[in-house]
Amino acid sequence: MLNSLYGVHPEELAKFLAAYFPAYRCKQLLHWIYSRYVFDPGQMSDLPADFKDFLTGGFDLGMPSIKQKLSSADGSVKCRLSLADSAQIELVLMPEAKKLTLCVSSQVGCSRGCSFCATGSMKLRRNLEVHEIVQQILLAAAESDKPITNLVFMGMGEPLDNLDNVLYAVRLIQDASTLAFSPRRTTISTCGIVPGIRRFADSGVKAKLAVSLNSARDEVRSELMPVNARYPLQDLKSALLYFLQKSRFRVTLEYILIPGVNMSDADLKALRKFCGDLSCKINFIPYNSVPFLSYRAPSPTEIEAFMQKAQSLPQAVTLRRSRGSDVCGACGQLVVNDIKNKPEVHHEPDRKHRPTPVRR
Ligand code: SF4
Repeated sequence: MLNSLYGVHPEELAKFLAAYFPAYRCKQLLHWIYSRYVFDPGQMSDLPADFKDFLTGGFDLGMPSIKQKLSSADGSVKCRLSLADSAQIELVLMPEAKKLTLCVSSQVGCSRGCSFCATGSMKLRRNLEVHEIVQQILLAAAESDKPITNLVFMGMGEPLDNLDNVLYAVRLIQDASTLAFSPRRTTISTCGIVPGIRRFADSGVKAKLAVSLNSARDEVRSELMPVNARYPLQDLKSALLYFLQKSRFRVTLEYILIPGVNMSDADLKALRKFCGDLSCKINFIPYNSVPFLSYRAPSPTEIEAFMQKAQSLPQAVTLRRSRGSDVCGACGQLVVNDIKNKPEVHHEPDRKHRPTPVRR
């Protein structure tokens, strides 16, 4: 089986191709892929035939197909992709006034079993390869009319359970000859895998860290997130302090608001204590209901009452509005359903040579 071209770091690719072709051919190739989002060598008009033949004979240049594309009333777009082995993953594009955030997947399914999360119900099928992570970004960029400004690893899967591939993909897309994606606009999220946080901190890869906290009380957090039994809050906190020593970015804590579970005064008090000396900001996210899970979404009144009290926390707090919840593209809703009985909307990627570069 041929290696996918999209999983090869440009430095390695340049070294490999230099044995056969002048160096500028590699630059031309990278420009077609990462600036013009053209993936078919046949359409790379300034490349000679022998170079195109070499590429098609030596690499897999195939891309995942977009099996379903759903647009939300709020402008978010969720795409379901089918990979080479027919495994399916989802990505979500979330436009805001001056931003376009892409949420990518790192695994097919997830083994962590968080009780509020639809993806956890799928169980882990496999890790994504480097090229499958990069391909999500390239396909999303090719599909979008605006440049992608922010990248978050918050789709399907636990990124730190596939850390080597995630870090390699981040290095690849941050390289100046590919997307030159900004480290401060790249966020890797975790449910709290303590050794993974330390490895990420030691890796030298520059990106932000977000932790799905959801409760600062061990008994509540363990109910919501089985990972807490293995890595309780105290261990998580020391890993975050370690990360902060190594990183120039403050940490983001994500806190999904679930009525009757983690929105009481006692929950806020525990959160204040946990955050005490952490350089962090806290995103509160109203829970999005998932048909087969028993939690309910908070009402606007419940959210407002909670947020009023949360303003007294010393850290910066924000209420992150759910995006794409009507197409199940919001936090905790990503799951590949049995869709046998539902009509599929097929959208082939627009392969026009559209110069929509990712923001540098
Ligand atoms: S919240 Fe994240 S870590 Fe937990 S089950 Fe869902 S995808 Fe996995």
